[in-house]
Parts: sequence; structure tokens; C-alpha cells
Amino acid sequence: MRIFDPHIHMTSRTTDDYERMAAAGVRALVEPAFWLGQPRTNVGSFTDYFDALVGWEPFRASQFGIRHHCTIALNPKEANDPRCREVLAVLPRYLEKDGVVAVGEIGYDSMTPEEDEVFAAQLALAIDHDLPALVHTPHRDKARGTDRTLDVVRESGIDPGRVAVDHLNEVTVGRVAGSGCWMGFSIYPDTKMTADRMVAILQEYGLERMLVNSAADWGRSDPLLTLRTGEAMLAAGFGPDDVDRVLWRNPVEFYGQSKRLDLSEVEDAAGTFEGNSILRGGS
Ligand SMILES: [Zn+2]
Repeated sequence: MRIFDPHIHMTSRTTDDYERMAAAGVRALVEPAFWLGQPRTNVGSFTDYFDALVGWEPFRASQFGIRHHCTIALNPKEANDPRCREVLAVLPRYLEKDGVVAVGEIGYDSMTPEEDEVFAAQLALAIDHDLPALVHTPHRDKARGTDRTLDVVRESGIDPGRVAVDHLNEVTVGRVAGSGCWMGFSIYPDTKMTADRMVAILQEYGLERMLVNSAADWGRSDPLLTLRTGEAMLAAGFGPDDVDRVLWRNPVEFYGQSKRLDLSEVEDAAGTFEGNSILRGGS
């Protein structure tokens, strides 16, 4: 099984995790810029973090044979802190960098007017830089947050096929399914979404525009839950090609829209890649 984790915060993880992920078949991942738990107080804290996402972390991943890309943004939570607003001004220079394959995580945390403004500004940046957008949906008041997210996406004028709406569940998936946006699911050890519930959603909604991630970060999480989802799919009667579509070809297709996905090294290492044009992300 080859795995592309489309949303995982490796900055928070150890080399043990990288070793276990490589052994489990993870060959590529995308690390979205997010909230570090401790509030940042100035723009320099963000640029140092962004530099690590485009420099140090890809090097660390490469030591385990894993290709690392990232998404860059001012996250929804810190959009509320006026000390962080200046970050918007430094984003354009990061959005030009090779390893950056989307604008994200953007969206809502508490659905404040400040978040509205920063979300819309960053969707506009995605359009300007011809990049997809990775959108975080709030953990509280999820249904309303998802509806409002889809409204803002529509108003922005971005092609919904270039937007992934993440952290969905049974309550919110139906709202996104008809929007044309991609549907992201974060599988957690004990909250939000499990591998078995994910399989039930795939049985109901199909495999098109579906993204499955571990979202592993500094909280209790497990970077192998992508593998566990693949195993649960097989146990439920999906075939190996179905698993490959969800855990590899879908994230490659979504982030490939950036035209910056470079999987040549891991492609060689894995050896058996079918459908080269799409896997190279050139479409
Ligand atoms: Zn995240």
C-alpha cells in the first residue's frame, strides 16, 4: 500500500514517527501551516516557522525516503490576534516557493469577523498565486461553520475543484458533497472520526474527491491512521485499487493542481506507479 498523507503536522512529531510511517508505506505528505499551541506574538515567529516548513522539515522527511510538501497561511485561530495580522503581508513571498502546494490551513475557528476577513483575503491569495486552498472547518458548531465556509468559498470566485474542506464528519460531508469542493477527513484515535466510520462514509458517498489524513500534531494522534483506514477499506470489501485511489491518487490529483508536486524520487523508490501523467501532478 502506498500512502500520501495530505494533512499531517510533522514539526510536532519525532523521528520514530517518520520511521514507522515509512515502514507503513507513507511515501509523501503535505504539512499545512497551523497553530503551534503556544500563541505567537509577532510576524518573525511565523517566518521562522514557514522557513522550517519549506527547508528543514523536507530535509528531515527525506532522510526516511518521504517526500514533504507544505501549505502556507495565517491559521484561523491566530487570525484573531492583531499582532499576527502582518503575516498576510509576508505570505506572497512564501506562496511562490517550490515546496508550497496550497494556501492553508485557512477557514474558521470561532467564526469571528476577523476570521471572515482573513479567510476571504487568503482565498484571494490562492486565486492570485494559482494555488489550491486547504480549508479547516471548526471543531465546535461544525454544521454552521461548514455552511458558512461554503458560502465564503462561493463568494470568493475560486474554482471549488481547487478547494479541500477538511475535518468533515457524517454531519458535514453531505453539505460539501454537492459543492464541487474536495472532502477531507482527519482520522483520530479517540475523537472526531475513526477508520470504520470513514469506510462507511466512502460506501455512502463514493471515492471521488475524497481525502483521508491523520492530521497528526502535538495532540493525541496517530500518523498511521491512514494505513488503518486502508486496511479497514480492504476488510470491508473495497479492492486494492480503491485504496490506492483514496490514499494516493486523490491527494496527488488535488495538490497536483499546484503544478509543484514533485514525486520523482519516491516514484522511483516505490517502483510500481501506474498512470504517470496524473501521478506527476502535471495536469
Ligand atoms: Zn491541521
